[in-house]
Amino acid sequence: MIELIEVTKLYNGQAVPAVDNLSLKVGKGETCVFVGPSGCGKSTTLRIINRMIEPSLGTILIDNKDVKASDPDKLRMNIGYVIQQIGLLPHRTVAENIAIVPRLHGWNKQKINQRVDELLNLIGLDPELTRNKYPYQLSGGQMQRVGVARAMAVDPPIMLMDEPFGAVDPLARNHLQDEFLRLQKKMKKTICFVTHDINEAIKMGDKIAIFDQGKLLQHGTPQEILSKP
Ligand code: ADP
Ligand code: ADP
Repeated sequence: MIELIEVTKLYNGQAVPAVDNLSLKVGKGETCVFVGPSGCGKSTTLRIINRMIEPSLGTILIDNKDVKASDPDKLRMNIGYVIQQIGLLPHRTVAENIAIVPRLHGWNKQKINQRVDELLNLIGLDPELTRNKYPYQLSGGQMQRVGVARAMAVDPPIMLMDEPFGAVDPLARNHLQDEFLRLQKKMKKTICFVTHDINEAIKMGDKIAIFDQGKLLQHGTPQEILSKP
């Protein structure tokens, strides 16, 4: 479903590539966790997939189609993206934040409102209580849930998640991980999930891609990774 072929990214002024001749396949419905120390190229790789960053070299295929052939805005409207800092618009309510991408898709008000309530239920927030709140009225964990809901709003087949649970305390994180795993069992989305936490990688990943200085050190199932010395 997602295929990176010999992808390299050298930022301006950098002596060493952030991503270095990386090839990786992520199968349909699979969660692939990118793990490794800070600065090893995980986020850059993620952003190359939805063309927030253009690679210096290499090809990215989604469903065997070169992403270069797609309009970047259209591409991003069909790929859910969740980051640690969430980026909820502070002067918009929860419902308005979730509605951003559906609006870009031209959904009518009724369809959007229905979807907002459905998503809030899905992620374990009471729509009545949450819909009209502003981000500052939410806890960190609640904001994170809204960030996930927003990314899922138009039910995109692909989700890119960059340390999605990184900003919440360990207990809440554990809870969010469990809920997301349960959700993913039903959703079967193709997910690239970035973390620096190997335990989170083992828990969340169908496959784990261990990054080291822009290269893939290992790639396999958690069991395969754990059984290697
Ligand atoms: P990770 O997500 O694993 O922490 P990143 O992909 O963010 O790694 O960064 C990989 C490397 O690229 C690091 O050396 C980082 O400093 C560098 N880098 C990231 N973004 C930029 C940028 N916009 N300009 C220049 N260098 C960058
Ligand atoms: P800006 O121009 O302020 O960077 P954009 O026009 O890129 O914002 O996007 C508008 C809002 O929609 C942002 O808050 C962004 O986080 C969100 N957004 C954009 N693309 C996606 C996506 N694929 N999935 C979820 N949210 C998105």
